[in-house]
Amino acid sequence: MIAPELLRTPAQGKSSDFYTIATLGSHSALQILKGAHDEGFHTLAIANRETERLYRSFAFVDEVIGIDNYGEFMDLVPELESRKIIIVPHGSFVAYLSLDDHKKMSIPYFGNKAVLDHEASRELQRQWLTRAGLTVPRQFRTAAEIDRPVIVKLYGAQGGKGYLFVRNANDFEQRAGQLARQNYILQEYIIGVPAYIHYFYSPLTGKLEIMSMDRRYETNVDSLGRIPATAQQNMEIEPSYVVVGNSPLVLRESMLAEAYRMGEDVVRVSQEICGPKGLFGAFCIETIITSEAKFFVMEISARIVAGTNPFIDGSPYSYLNYSEPMSTGRRIAREIKNALLSNNLHAVLDDSGIV
Ligand code: AMP
Ligand code: AMP
Repeated sequence: MIAPELLRTPAQGKSSDFYTIATLGSHSALQILKGAHDEGFHTLAIANRETERLYRSFAFVDEVIGIDNYGEFMDLVPELESRKIIIVPHGSFVAYLSLDDHKKMSIPYFGNKAVLDHEASRELQRQWLTRAGLTVPRQFRTAAEIDRPVIVKLYGAQGGKGYLFVRNANDFEQRAGQLARQNYILQEYIIGVPAYIHYFYSPLTGKLEIMSMDRRYETNVDSLGRIPATAQQNMEIEPSYVVVGNSPLVLRESMLAEAYRMGEDVVRVSQEICGPKGLFGAFCIETIITSEAKFFVMEISARIVAGTNPFIDGSPYSYLNYSEPMSTGRRIAREIKNALLSNNLHAVLDDSGIV
């Protein structure tokens, strides 16, 4: 049994006695570290030279390690391994570490790394989602098959950067030169409202929670409606999908049951394809909802997403489950704390990180 005294803030003991929750200084680090602090953990941000000062400016960040760039993170692993550290991963781990390094990193890690392969491969991800009964946009193998507007998605693109909207097969032929030597997929363009649904699945209780929802604010696609279509005609504006922020969303309540069902089925299938632990902790299903109120699923993210950041103080949904502010970051720390207090830490860590 782990004594509750191990979950103290530095003022009450020396830092080697208690667990530290650590993450890269970017993406949703503020939310993760605030949540960890509120649950009584010591907190550590690994920041780069540009962001170091920002993370030091917050009182709930107990410690900051500065590195020149995130590529140097792997050099820190031996030092971090020698301490009682638990890493909470977010989008920057996927963006700045290679899949191999991500898997190799042997620091205790919140989440199941076996899910990474199914998430990183667009094909495996598609199989996972369809097996869970989710509807995914059509995919075209060749330009000749294109019979409707498509979005061209570059492999490894971050935050929608470099995506192209293409009207039809002809349009694609004319612009294919722009894509020379790059890997991409051709996906049916779904016309509807994007909604990103944030979930938390607890391996300790077996319960799924909807934590919050967001819509992304993307430049320039979200501003095109501000210029009348007639005025756009000779301007040759191409839509782009670069995310700059997120705003809160609540779903029409009659659609909530389907959102919950999608989350449950994605978790269930993950336990069939990624080993018994499956997907746990925070995840997000990225959808577009059409005028028939049908969810098309663009993607799944198997960890906390930055769209949870508007809810550091909790969301309307987390308020229904908790009588205190409960961000996704805090919910993660609460799960780790509950696991520690019930002497079951391995249940919330990747198996390669069992301490
Ligand atoms: P960053 O550390 O801001 O470069 O982000 C790391 C990864 O997370 C990139 O792939 C970003 O596109 C993605 N990301 C960062 N912030 C957001 C956001 N507010 N909404 C959605 N995705 C984001
Ligand atoms: P993703 O990289 O899949 O998160 O997509 C980035 C953005 O591109 C989304 O937030 C949407 O605005 C847009 N997008 C992606 N896939 C589609 C699609 N199939 N139909 C319409 N818009 C899409």
